Amino acid sequence: MKQKILLVYTGGTIGMVKDKVKNTLVPFNFDGLLKAIPELKSEELDLDNISIKNPIDSSNMHPSIWVEIVEIIETNYANYDGFVILHGTDTMAYTASAFSFMLENLNKAIIFTGSQIPIGARRSDAKENLITAVEIAASRKVNEVCIYFEDQLYKGNRTVKVNTEHFEAFESPNHPILAEAGVNIKYRSALQKKGSQKLVVHKNCSDNVAILKLFPGIKIATIGAIMNSAKGIIIESFGAGNASTNLEFTTLLSQGIQKGKIIINISQCLHGRAVNGQYETSEPFGKSGVICGKDMTTEAAITKLMFLLGQGISDDKIKQLLQTDLRGEVSR
Ligand code: ASP
Repeated sequence: MKQKILLVYTGGTIGMVKDKVKNTLVPFNFDGLLKAIPELKSEELDLDNISIKNPIDSSNMHPSIWVEIVEIIETNYANYDGFVILHGTDTMAYTASAFSFMLENLNKAIIFTGSQIPIGARRSDAKENLITAVEIAASRKVNEVCIYFEDQLYKGNRTVKVNTEHFEAFESPNHPILAEAGVNIKYRSALQKKGSQKLVVHKNCSDNVAILKLFPGIKIATIGAIMNSAKGIIIESFGAGNASTNLEFTTLLSQGIQKGKIIINISQCLHGRAVNGQYETSEPFGKSGVICGKDMTTEAAITKLMFLLGQGISDDKIKQLLQTDLRGEVSR
């Protein structure tokens, strides 16, 4: 039986052309993209395409556009075997992480891909990325949100963009890759098993969140301003989840928690995890009620927090779910 795949075009370098007047890359018409890859037509595949209203450079991504794309998936979910989302690489890991939370009980593939060089340009990585992403989406082996880039299939909510120049733009530092494309595509056991529950789509994401990246010498006033700016705060701390033991800082943390803030501690390091209480310098986090985000990426932590704060559930429930593995975003 023919597999039906829906390509959703959202913008990004993959579909960009040079604006001759401004000499910058701008999104172009999606039809041109398919003409550039006739190899996508296959006997075994029915490939349809759809575009969001205004394709964007993904640095302009916004939760309202997440909802626009999620609604395209929701509307077409029953009619397609898998989905390929063409998306700019800059914020692809955020969107993939957000979708893993917004689309609960997925049992079809949602594969994000893009490219470092526009599709029409010589030496572009776009063709291979797109053709293989479509093949993976049609494989029936994937039941989750993934990013496919330069021969590797990554778990979406474990992925970070690590390179602006190399074709290997992504990594999933704390999670094995899900598949590797060589002569054959080799699928790995880390893939999510197919579930039988019905898809539940969540469209409310709160923007009442902030990220505080610590650095030696950061002003207490800066920390205070960021803490006051939002209900949910991700703290990117040093090493294995450490921070200054300065009394003003630790007081800000405990006062924040008392005022009802939800604060999560993750590490600035790509590999490894935050552990509350391993060093004396991480004790203030645990003592004041800061949640340990373990090995979550910043992208997964912030989108998980946006998702949970948008659910209309109690703070206690949010704190409990933040420490629970919901979609494979955190190791035990
Ligand atoms: N700025 C582009 C974007 O994220 C970069 C890319 O697609 O690689 O939309």
